[in-house]
Amino acid sequence: MSVLDSARERVGTREPAKTGRENTPNTSLGTMAVRLGGRLSVGAQCRRLVAEDKLSRDRLEALQERRLGRLLRDAYETVPYYRELFDQRGLTPGCLPPRELLGKLPPLTKSDIMANFPDRILRHGRRSTGSQHLASTGTTADRTDVIVSLYGQRSRLALVFWRHALGGRCGVGAKRIEIPPDACSRLCGTENGRPMGLIGEIRAVAGQNRRPIQSALRVIEKRLRSSIRHSLIYDQTLPPFGPDGTCLAEADLQRYVDVLREQRPYLVTGLPAYLQQIARHIRRTGQSVHVPVIHPMGGLSTPGLRQFIAESFSAEVYETYGSSELGGFACQCDSREWLHVTMGSYIVEVVRDGRPAKPGELGHLIVTGLENRAMPFIRYKLGDVGRWHAGSCECGRETQLIECNGRLQNLIVTGEGRPVTEEELLDLAYSDLGLEHFQLVERKRGQFDLSVVAQPGEDLDQAAIKSAFSDALDGPRRLDVFPAQTIHAEATGKFRFVKSASYEDFA
Ligand SMILES: [Zn+2]
Repeated sequence: MSVLDSARERVGTREPAKTGRENTPNTSLGTMAVRLGGRLSVGAQCRRLVAEDKLSRDRLEALQERRLGRLLRDAYETVPYYRELFDQRGLTPGCLPPRELLGKLPPLTKSDIMANFPDRILRHGRRSTGSQHLASTGTTADRTDVIVSLYGQRSRLALVFWRHALGGRCGVGAKRIEIPPDACSRLCGTENGRPMGLIGEIRAVAGQNRRPIQSALRVIEKRLRSSIRHSLIYDQTLPPFGPDGTCLAEADLQRYVDVLREQRPYLVTGLPAYLQQIARHIRRTGQSVHVPVIHPMGGLSTPGLRQFIAESFSAEVYETYGSSELGGFACQCDSREWLHVTMGSYIVEVVRDGRPAKPGELGHLIVTGLENRAMPFIRYKLGDVGRWHAGSCECGRETQLIECNGRLQNLIVTGEGRPVTEEELLDLAYSDLGLEHFQLVERKRGQFDLSVVAQPGEDLDQAAIKSAFSDALDGPRRLDVFPAQTIHAEATGKFRFVKSASYEDFA
């Protein structure tokens, strides 16, 4: 191992030392150099992930226990929000084994974050040097501010490479193209959900602390870092579909196909609804397009949809799971069955009625990030529902196995009290009902409007559609079917194909 490698190893496998300086934002050129240098240790993080991937379940759980113990202690000592939670319950970091202690803390919600950001939820109540400010969008338009430590950023970037390698066997030099729903905000930053230019960003930061030159330097540095990081992951970013919704003109879809044929990428990452639409266009026009690996991202992809995409592009399709708040924490392996949790970096719980869910039982997905100390996410309720699997995967890995079945807000609880997931409804809609797209909106509990878009040149059998959806929803009080031309995207650029009025009944 070279001196550089061993230095990277040392830097990359632990949190930065706790000196007072880390808590003082500083934008000198020297600090910038140190920060850029720190990026090198992403390699060390990748090596750590490879090593942890081979550990037995016992050793992984022991590792989680140690890292969780450190996280809980640090959060108690440095984050006012968590100090108060512990105190209110008469708990201290050493009073119970970490995992048991974790179970005594209530889940953290988006509204908790919004109510306590920044002073009460950040480490020492302020941003640390080198930390990154992200804003989540999610499927609803409400933003959550997230501060990620330097260590957390390196870890997130390593996890992106790791997921591409695990799920897509994507090595260095493989050409990668993405079609995200919000390309502009990923590349330019957002303010109140709207894309923001460089000058606007500098003005906004300058307005906050009245030090324009330092602010400008900080923004330029942030842009540089973000663009370097982005160019490491993707070679090319294609534009989103835009405001016309799901039904893009065939000529516009052909442009995407032309780029894929011309550029011949190894990996394409994109919003599931976009990939589905391009796949349909390929089938309708009888073209042959081959992309070795496809990775749907930014929305729910169901087993049926992944199979459709795989066949249309003659591709291998793999699924990953994560959130902008926490980064990516689970990925499918070659067996393409369940999602493997990256257990050294995250703890994932599935909770139903306030207790741990049984294997295979639908529950709320709750995640603890073990690495971002700048803003700890301890028992964060993602707003997604899913299941965990008790068996082992045929690949031999002993990491925890989970699946995500959709957003909680898109979950219908029927009159009989049975939860119906977004995943079930998507696979029903795209089975053999002749639907191009649909949107099911529950206006009041048990009362549904179903908008349906026919496939080009097809007539819809509305009675059959109504009957299939009625059966799936246990015979609701009202279900009206309306033909539509397209389904429009939400303000975030993503689509909501199911909107529920009954999801709060799911505890
Ligand atoms: Zn596996």
